[in-house]
Amino acid sequence: MKAEIRRHFAPALIAWQRQHGRHGLPWQGTRDPYRVWLSEIMLQQTQVSTVLDYYPRFLARFPDVQTLAAAQPDEVMALWSGLGYYSRARNLHRCAQEVVSVHGGEFPRDAQTLETLPGIGASTAAAIAAFCHGERVSILDGNVRRVLARLLAFGGDQALPKVHREMWDMAQALLPESPAHDDMAAYTQGLMDLGATVCVRGQPRCVACPMQSVCEAHCTGRTTDFPVKTKRVARRFERWWLWWAERESPHGEREVWLVRRPERGIWAGLYCLPVFDSEEALLATANTEPGTLEFFPAMPHALTHRELLLHAVRQVLPAWDEAALPAGQWVAISAMGGLGLPAPVRQLLQPQAPLFAGQ
Ligand code: SF4
Repeated sequence: MKAEIRRHFAPALIAWQRQHGRHGLPWQGTRDPYRVWLSEIMLQQTQVSTVLDYYPRFLARFPDVQTLAAAQPDEVMALWSGLGYYSRARNLHRCAQEVVSVHGGEFPRDAQTLETLPGIGASTAAAIAAFCHGERVSILDGNVRRVLARLLAFGGDQALPKVHREMWDMAQALLPESPAHDDMAAYTQGLMDLGATVCVRGQPRCVACPMQSVCEAHCTGRTTDFPVKTKRVARRFERWWLWWAERESPHGEREVWLVRRPERGIWAGLYCLPVFDSEEALLATANTEPGTLEFFPAMPHALTHRELLLHAVRQVLPAWDEAALPAGQWVAISAMGGLGLPAPVRQLLQPQAPLFAGQ
């Protein structure tokens, strides 16, 4: 790495962040590790605009780590519902419980110990330690890798673990020499802001970048050559058939039969309509009295590794032989707000509910 880049990077980034970076987000300006941790977990794979909606609601219900640790898993999942990547919510809950039971209700202060907690990776641990305690450690998420690969015109394949380790070394080498506490917060936020608003995917906005005088990709006109990443495997396409069995309860409420998804795999642990892998399989279980079935238009739904096409088939019957239903329970549609449901299933059953990006 050129000495010129190393000298320029941290001071320029800190000064740029203070003047041009993002300020005033609800999770900024705090050194409370609980709030920083929650925002960092929510922001993984999720846009700021979506988190802006979920974060205050989550905090209003779970204002501190003790409250979250004591919560029922279903309530945590319900508040996470629609944010996607549900393993984050399960780990969030487990992490809160471990902070309370192992660390006396206080998050560890250093990145190395933070990383031992469920769901906290190296970059998240660094963010918490840098924001809350000024520790001299670097974050390294996908955005930061893109910035550094361009800055250094680094052509290593980002899909390789060996390259990932090299990137960590580069990130550490660029840290400010002997930062004051607030410098580490501005530096860390600056890395995030630069990747999210200036050195963006596709065509970066070099004209607004504090690194343009030293950036190797910019100076050689090769900004779109970096980062290098071998192609991902194409997403697998699947059709899922959702059986929407509905009845009117003895109290006159609309109720739907929901099952619990297995603990691993897609929509793990969430409540869902029974899923079948073919129409035939669904019809073999459903009550096929003439005229009882209502077929809904197919709904496409993209997941990280899968492209789903969801076919919902609804049946409303006055009485059901529950022995024919897969293991599950009747749930009033009006009570579904309190349950963790996959976003498209919630949208189907409660069309008035807001739809957010996610699983
Ligand atoms: Fe990214 Fe351009 Fe800045 Fe280089 S100069 S870091 S390519 S935005």
